[in-house]
Amino acid sequence: MAWKSADVVVIGGGIIGTAIAYFLSRQKIDVILLEKDGIASGSSGACDGAVVMQTKKPGVHLKLAMESHALLSRMQDHLQMPIEFEQNGGLIVIETDEEKTAMKQFVKAQRQAGLDVELLDHKQLHALAPHLSDHLISATYSPQDSTINPIALTLGFAMGAKQMGAEIITGSTVSNIEVEGRQISAVETAAGKIETRTVVNATGVYASEIGRMLGIEIPIKPRRGQLLVTEARPDLLKPWLGSANYIAAKFNPQLAKEGAGGVSIDQTQNGNFLIGATREFVGYDKRTTTEGLKQIASRAVQILPVLKNMHLIRAFAGLRPYTPDGLPILGKVEKIKGFIMAAGHEGDGIALSAITGKLISELVSEGKTDVALDSFNLNRFSNDTT
Ligand SMILES: Cc1cc2nc3c(=O)[nH]c(=O)nc-3n(C[C@H](O)[C@H](O)[C@H](O)COP(=O)(O)OP(=O)(O)OC[C@H]3O[C@@H](n4cnc5c(N)ncnc54)[C@H](O)[C@@H]3O)c2cc1C
Repeated sequence: MAWKSADVVVIGGGIIGTAIAYFLSRQKIDVILLEKDGIASGSSGACDGAVVMQTKKPGVHLKLAMESHALLSRMQDHLQMPIEFEQNGGLIVIETDEEKTAMKQFVKAQRQAGLDVELLDHKQLHALAPHLSDHLISATYSPQDSTINPIALTLGFAMGAKQMGAEIITGSTVSNIEVEGRQISAVETAAGKIETRTVVNATGVYASEIGRMLGIEIPIKPRRGQLLVTEARPDLLKPWLGSANYIAAKFNPQLAKEGAGGVSIDQTQNGNFLIGATREFVGYDKRTTTEGLKQIASRAVQILPVLKNMHLIRAFAGLRPYTPDGLPILGKVEKIKGFIMAAGHEGDGIALSAITGKLISELVSEGKTDVALDSFNLNRFSNDTT
């Protein structure tokens, strides 16, 4: 006899699984969320909180991000947990003429896609952020770029879902998924079996393990990011900041060297700086390294020299759920009826959380979504998923 039953079982209690449980519950759909450790114990508890539009590829990726931003900007009205959403704008700082050429192209494409973004000259940049190094020749600026507290948002979604009737079970590992014919019939945990006809795989960097339970290959792998946290100081940098070298790489592949000195800097509400992040393929290893931390610290000091005299209070690493084309895997998997993917958000999972939750809940309740999910389907990686 089954331990429990639910219309939908969501596997994974990170930002994506909790957002899905939240939006499903808003639609009054009966949902159980299973998390093997605690809520936000995975990537969503070891990351930055940039809700930055400028780092998204123009096209469907940016469209999703802008819709998600609109939802997140109103989310505090619905959640009890303070989620620290702040729209302070964002800068992508430019150090070379080569980067400037690539970034001009980038601004043009982003503006055509409807993003409010402009190229600042040296004077405008330093007026907006006076503590930045004088060697920065220019920057792109979008007033839409924002930040949020990722752990608070994940907990907020989980609490909101629970209040609306979702059951959230932590310390519960899914060990197998049962199928009758081609239709999902149950998930197995150590506590027993849960009968369901719909399973959402929101397990981030572990998504391929869940896929293997069903004989489905899911090309998601962990990409480590190491982060530094400084002591708190009074306001020194208002907008979120990223460097152009990894953004420009999206538009100019010659600039695309692995981890090529890309850095982000964000001063939180408390005054601490979050400095990130490396991009490394080292399996599931979540340790920090002297080399990695030195790399991001020295790049950050080049850009914001006042950081040089600050104490570091903490360093940690998280794992981004990487996919080969940088886009998440969302939607139904045709090979198994009732199996839905919602993973592989790489470095964008916090920013894309709300729209992912909304679209997956639409898919479950109506069988279709407001925004077409074709570009995100798993079958883009293989012909063997039908
Ligand atoms: C250094 C760094 C900086 C980042 N900065 C940003 C940023 O500024 N903005 C942004 O938008 N994104 C950022 N990201 C990306 C973001 O953190 C991720 O995209 C996001 O957290 C992924 O969420 P998730 O819910 O898919 O995965 P997770 O948070 O990892 O959740 C998946 C959960 O599934 C659970 N699980 C796995 N297997 C099972 C099982 N068998 N049974 C039950 N539960 C299971 C895990 O325990 C885990 O809690 C950053 C990431 C890193 C590493």
